[in-house]
Amino acid sequence: SAKIEMCFNNSLMEAISLVRHALSLERIVIAADLDERMPIIYGDPEKLKQVWINLLSNASDALGSRGGTLLVRSRLFVDQQKVTAWFADTGPGISSENQSRIFDPFFTTKPVGQGTGLGLSVSFGIIKDHGGVIRVETPAPEGFFDALVTNGDNAPGTVFIIDLPLDHEET
Ligand code: ADP
Ligand code: MG
Repeated sequence: SAKIEMCFNNSLMEAISLVRHALSLERIVIAADLDERMPIIYGDPEKLKQVWINLLSNASDALGSRGGTLLVRSRLFVDQQKVTAWFADTGPGISSENQSRIFDPFFTTKPVGQGTGLGLSVSFGIIKDHGGVIRVETPAPEGFFDALVTNGDNAPGTVFIIDLPLDHEET
């Protein structure tokens, strides 16, 4: 795929700005906590934006009309030559039974016509093509949202964690 040197935070911010208006209508507060060192990665900007939008729209679906908080975080790990992104929401979480299936093509818990079940499986493939990994942690770790105002929300929450190498040999 078409990989170039790209600013990781800008990629996240672009995806956030594309969904921000729709999320505000849904009473969702979106917070970004991005690494100030502005990590540069070697990646396909369009493909990665697709992953971020998939994760944001899943979080938005999970929060629904009740609303809540969506947190996007990035951190550079120089010693491991990687960046990590977290997409976290204060939604209802994912049952342990379903956790093992969410990356399968066509797995969806959404009503017919509202979910294709392809978002996470496509995202998994894109991250893998970048030499990275994507995984889920739900409930969110204790205190994950503590720095944020979450309307007293104490739902289990879901965190998707993406690790990407700063540089990656084409295969
Ligand atoms: P779709 O969104 O079309 O259902 P996805 O592959 O994007 O397909 O997601 C698969 C399933 O994973 C969803 O139907 C939902 O059950 C679950 N899921 C994904 N993200 C979240 C989230 N942030 N909170 C709760 N459940 C989620
Ligand atoms: Mg989806």
